[in-house]
Amino acid sequence: MNRLLEACESCAQQVNVSVNFGVDELGLVVINGQGSLNVSLACQRCTEPFETTLDFEFSFSPVKNQDAAEDLPSYYDAIELDENGEVDLRELVENELLLAIPLIPRHELEQCQSPADSVWGQLPEEHEKPNPFDVLKKLK
Ligand SMILES: [Zn+2]
Repeated sequence: MNRLLEACESCAQQVNVSVNFGVDELGLVVINGQGSLNVSLACQRCTEPFETTLDFEFSFSPVKNQDAAEDLPSYYDAIELDENGEVDLRELVENELLLAIPLIPRHELEQCQSPADSVWGQLPEEHEKPNPFDVLKKLK
């Protein structure tokens, strides 16, 4: 899982995954799974690494093409079969792990090395802004 290794500072050697394969009442093939992986990510606030767990859950139904994907019930994600009519399970799991990485990875505030700039990422307090259309109201 090279893409995952690149995205993380370090990863545990083992990914815990459990996957169930079945056919639902509509006759659709379904791949349900869940898993987790302990990783170390670089904190975007203090740049120090921190440990976290990436958890994921998925519910896929394999399809032959995009048209078939559009016909799927919304509770399934589509996964396109490759040229051999197969699903690459390892790639699927790697994609799920990449998606489980937080958009902005960072320590819990109390564990962060630079708690001084604790307002990082927070919006400044809203000030009452004058409405530009108030001018028009006066003209009326
Ligand atoms: Zn930090």
